[in-house]
Amino acid sequence: MAVLEDPLPPVVGDKAAKRLDRALELRTVGDLLRHYPRRYETRGELTDLASLRDGEYVTVQAEIAKVTSRPMRGRSGSILEATVTDGRGKLVLTFFGKGRQDWRERQLAPGLHGLFSGQVSTFRGQRQLAHPEYELLGEGDGGDRAAEYASEIIPVYPAAKEITSWQIADSVQLVLHALQVEDPMPLAIREAHRLCGLAEALRGIHRPGSWGEKERATHRLKWDEAFLLQTVLAQRRLAATAYSATPRPRVAGGLLDAYDARLPFELTVGQELAGATVGDELARDHPMHRLLQGEVGSGKTVIAVRAMLQVVDGGGQAALLAPTEVLAAQHYRSITEQLGPLALAGQLGAAENATRVALLTGSQGAAARRANLLDAASGRAGIVIGTHALLEEHVQFADLGLVVIDEQHRFGVEQRDALRAKAADGRPHLLVMTATPIPRTVAMTVFGDLEMSTLTELPAGRSPITTHVVPAAEKPHYLERVWERLTEESARGRQCYVVCPRIGDGPRSEGPRGEEGDQLYGPAGDGDQASDTGRPPIAVLDLAAQLETGPLAGLRLAVLHGRLPPDEKDRVMLGFAAGSVDVLVTTTVVEVGVDVPNATVMVIMDADRFGVSQLHQLRGRVGRGRHEGLCLLVTEAEADARARQRLDAVAATLDGFKLSRLDLEQRREGDVLGAAQAGRRSSLKLLTLLQDESLIGDARKEAQRLVDADPALAGQPALAAAIRALLDREQAEYLEKA
Ligand code: ADP
Ligand code: MG
Repeated sequence: MAVLEDPLPPVVGDKAAKRLDRALELRTVGDLLRHYPRRYETRGELTDLASLRDGEYVTVQAEIAKVTSRPMRGRSGSILEATVTDGRGKLVLTFFGKGRQDWRERQLAPGLHGLFSGQVSTFRGQRQLAHPEYELLGEGDGGDRAAEYASEIIPVYPAAKEITSWQIADSVQLVLHALQVEDPMPLAIREAHRLCGLAEALRGIHRPGSWGEKERATHRLKWDEAFLLQTVLAQRRLAATAYSATPRPRVAGGLLDAYDARLPFELTVGQELAGATVGDELARDHPMHRLLQGEVGSGKTVIAVRAMLQVVDGGGQAALLAPTEVLAAQHYRSITEQLGPLALAGQLGAAENATRVALLTGSQGAAARRANLLDAASGRAGIVIGTHALLEEHVQFADLGLVVIDEQHRFGVEQRDALRAKAADGRPHLLVMTATPIPRTVAMTVFGDLEMSTLTELPAGRSPITTHVVPAAEKPHYLERVWERLTEESARGRQCYVVCPRIGDGPRSEGPRGEEGDQLYGPAGDGDQASDTGRPPIAVLDLAAQLETGPLAGLRLAVLHGRLPPDEKDRVMLGFAAGSVDVLVTTTVVEVGVDVPNATVMVIMDADRFGVSQLHQLRGRVGRGRHEGLCLLVTEAEADARARQRLDAVAATLDGFKLSRLDLEQRREGDVLGAAQAGRRSSLKLLTLLQDESLIGDARKEAQRLVDADPALAGQPALAAAIRALLDREQAEYLEKA
């Protein structure tokens, strides 16, 4: 008898266990049982050989068509070639033998079906598997492996070098025979949602007797994934309410009141509501854990600043973590400007009860840095803004009461925690802001331990953004028109961005990913999404030089990218913000947060190189002021290419929620979840965040109900054990990565 935690060797034998460990890092019974088949073959139904790709390790079902053998030239030994077919295409199996291979020739009799496993390659225009492993199905002296399968359905496992699908199947079979599991899913939930038992599900996914059985098994195992995770999250939410935090209730006549009085605009209804919720939670004696998500330009920063001021009024400090120096510097500038005399403590013209704002970035000069560190540590600075530099060990606070993370997707949970750990009690209030709207299920899964506020409306008086796709290959004169448009725009006193996917100052391959930080909605790295022009992506430095002497001669151009020295970056951004630059040719460093209301046009070169949400985020840089925004997506992708469809989708809607869903559909889930998921990928094998939305919602409700009734899961020992195992796995994976 074996349980999930048991090591594999005693169950499957040392040799097989070693192979499973080496090839797939499967070490326990549970590891192996969670290595689900990738697909299933129906016996007699041959694999479509046209679908094979060079380099893949595959297992195919095919019929042997012909076998030939010849001696090797100039050496002893022989080459045996078996041609197999799916009825249309052909695949050649090549075997090299030291001597004659008569036995193999007899074994591979034409007409037999078999499973063949190996790496696909192409030799002289012919698809082949060199020295594949194989198992013959049905009669013949090759063995009758097929009879071993309970049905006509043969599981095919993700194959790897050194191990075949049927070797895995053999071990799985041994494990299933020996298996004894206690079902972690509470009976009431199983009954309410008509889920089969765990043992049945594990058999059903590995050795289904029918397609219906396989479906039932998959459904139940998806429930396991969703339910375990949601139970963990419900417990975390509950635990958070048990921690104590210093309450920071609103103080009448404090900095927050003064700031509100200075605000040059009315808050939107959404800002009012979210702000009130945040204000209430800061006043409680346990830490706020809130995610603020909202449309690009919906005004999240104001909510953050108001929360920070409430905490400062309550005698504490607030830290604001931003992903790039450009953004940190911009926050610093705009917040000090908005605060005016309220931020001039110790200086001439300071308001009564004024505070200070400190900025900490990696590139600061030593003197500025020392002064800012001191302001943070002494508590003189109520607000401390910074990049990753904030996380360094020697950065200290007198009384850190609130941590704000801007553009959360650039940071991992561990960075969030590193900053929180700087509070004396380790439990400051936490406000997390996302770059773009995120689909509901992603929110529930990735940020499931946070409460959520959403801003859907944009501030009034915002001008709409119009987006057009510019097909530069088909209509070259459109591109000329683009540059004319920029000239006209600057004649009207407006400013423009031209974004390129590459910097272009070195041999290093630099996609947009190469820019500061890792991105949630990064560019489409996959070959099928990028334009297939065969040239490198357009580079900032090349294009700027061309524009300066060509179509934009006479305009004031500047260049911005992540590899400029920090003070140079700052100077350029300041110049652009002040209006002394007409056209900023830049990389995606302006993607997040950059706010220059007088900028009206954004041209994105090789737009097909970017992801959907990234384009949406980028175009959010224009149309932020009184003037209408225009975004031009320049591409050489063909009209019917998938990349063009994505660009059309971006042009067709300004709804960030819609676009983020589309993004999730088109990209690998792991990429989308990004740093925030921290090891979560491996626990979600069957669940897909888009298709299983209602299942995830149901599981969340059940988990919440269970945890409310029985927080420690005292009545559910099997569930508690399964959760411990899940957390151990996540932890192990996290440590491995770190
Ligand atoms: P995001 O949510 O994308 O981070 P920001 O916080 O940068 O957006 O806000 C975008 C711009 O809108 C800023 O210039 C900000 O001052 C302005 N803004 C914020 N709230 C309002 C409002 N209620 N009315 C008018 N302008 C606003
Ligand atoms: Mg922002």
